[in-house]
Amino acid sequence: MSQLIQEWVIRQAERDPDRPAISFKKQRLTYGELDRQSNQLAELLRESGCHAGDRVAFCVPKSPAAIISMLAVLKADCVYVPIDSDCPPARVNKVLAACRPKWLLAGKKTGSLLSKVFADKDATRGVHVGCVNGDSLKGENFVCEFAASDLARFSEAGHSFVNSPSDAAHILFTSGSTGVPKGVVITHENAVEFVEWGVDFFGINQYDRVSGHAPLHFDLSTFDIYGAFAAGAQLYPVPPELNLLPHKLAAFIRQSELTQWFSVPSILNYLAKFDAVQFGDFPSLRRLMWCGEVLPTPTLIHLMQRLPEAEFTNLYGPTEATIASSYYTVPFCPPHETDQIPIGVACTDEKLLVLDAAFKPTPVDAIGDLYIGGVGLSPGYWQDEEKTKSVFVQHPETGERIYRTGDLAKLGDDGQVHFIGRADTQIKSRGYRIELGEIETGLATLEFLEESAVVAIDTDGFENKLICCAWVPVDGQEFDVKRIRSELAAHVPKYMVPSEWLQLDRLPKNVNGKIDRPELRRQFDGRQADAADQRRKNDASRIVPTV
Ligand code: AMP
Repeated sequence: MSQLIQEWVIRQAERDPDRPAISFKKQRLTYGELDRQSNQLAELLRESGCHAGDRVAFCVPKSPAAIISMLAVLKADCVYVPIDSDCPPARVNKVLAACRPKWLLAGKKTGSLLSKVFADKDATRGVHVGCVNGDSLKGENFVCEFAASDLARFSEAGHSFVNSPSDAAHILFTSGSTGVPKGVVITHENAVEFVEWGVDFFGINQYDRVSGHAPLHFDLSTFDIYGAFAAGAQLYPVPPELNLLPHKLAAFIRQSELTQWFSVPSILNYLAKFDAVQFGDFPSLRRLMWCGEVLPTPTLIHLMQRLPEAEFTNLYGPTEATIASSYYTVPFCPPHETDQIPIGVACTDEKLLVLDAAFKPTPVDAIGDLYIGGVGLSPGYWQDEEKTKSVFVQHPETGERIYRTGDLAKLGDDGQVHFIGRADTQIKSRGYRIELGEIETGLATLEFLEESAVVAIDTDGFENKLICCAWVPVDGQEFDVKRIRSELAAHVPKYMVPSEWLQLDRLPKNVNGKIDRPELRRQFDGRQADAADQRRKNDASRIVPTV
């Protein structure tokens, strides 16, 4: 078993340097090139004074250069922190202020974002900027200290490492209910354990062509990238612009002759909704995996009927337990659309526990809190002991460290665990993990709002959940929703901006004086039902009689 994440690439490069490693648009990179180019950037980081454990952020759109950056940071014994370039500068600054990186490795076209980010001198104090895939970046408030062409003068030879498997490899920032993103620390061994399990369980090998669909700040990408490298397979990062073009995305899978697809369900819903997958399509595809939210069974049936040669696996797990902790391979096409697909059983050396409030296992079919134990558990949130202690707890009987996922689940009489829902206000929308509290914290900064509340309702669209906001303006003044949306977008990523808005004179409250969220959900559900009714009537009136 590999000890450190970067060792897979080193081993593949020694074994077969000319084997293709990454194929992205017109770019091709072999394992030898990947190894040598990441050594050069690692050397630059070392020479610039980076030491073991230092954080290095990167804001590089999905590309070979982004993957080289991740490997280089690991090879310099540092910890990488992916930054989502679609985030508003204020949120990027919260991440930088929390992890205090030595460098921010940037990609092309990030100059204007960085100009705004570096306007905040406190959050960016001591952060150096370099550009890893293009000419020197231009912008205000920062100096770009190297361009991609400067890397050629650094040694292509590798160094030995001082890191050990229990050291941090990366920090993934995820939505925090108080408005401050939480940094989940993932160690080398956390990632290595899951990747080795996945490669072995799925039989990934050097002939595989593996999708890289998830953005690099999502933990699913860890399996795409390192699962491919551990097996000596070829990684096909999926260009993000294809997410909105289901037929082009299907053509990409077809033309790349992918043998493995792994994504959140929303993109599979999208493919199904637009009927982009034909019967007998993707003849090379051997396995299709999803993770991150419930895949609606009608979508699964749709795909299983069209892709009879592929194996379908549901993976379940939160970032805090590294990529996934349980799996369920669907044995045959579900007979009915209302059948529920289980999240299955724990991966090797992991544990799934459904417990009651006294930490006792719940009886079969009784709903309980879902806890995870085992090798995937993160050491905790970056420099936040309190938050870490609140969810990484000790089992009172076994003494084992377990993570309270916030998910509700039940154990079926078939021995499979079934996902029921959340016990809190965290949601998944289009695959994004969102704490509704983070949106409310953003809204609370807008002084023209007297009150506001955010709830999520189910939708049959590909988003999974629709984010809805009820708001009350100060002094009954008139405000355009457009203004609220654009001011909120300065605080939260676009995918968190609610799509439904309801202006009220005051928010409904329950007997305790708290916002009555079930009532708000009912109101938004009612509006959705009315809108669907209206659409049906409009469609009917458009039907031209034939006689
Ligand atoms: P993330 O940290 O973004 O991976 O989100 C973790 C959360 O996503 C879990 O706690 C669940 O609520 C949800 N989740 C992950 N995988 C699944 C799945 N296969 N089915 C249903 N929900 C899932």
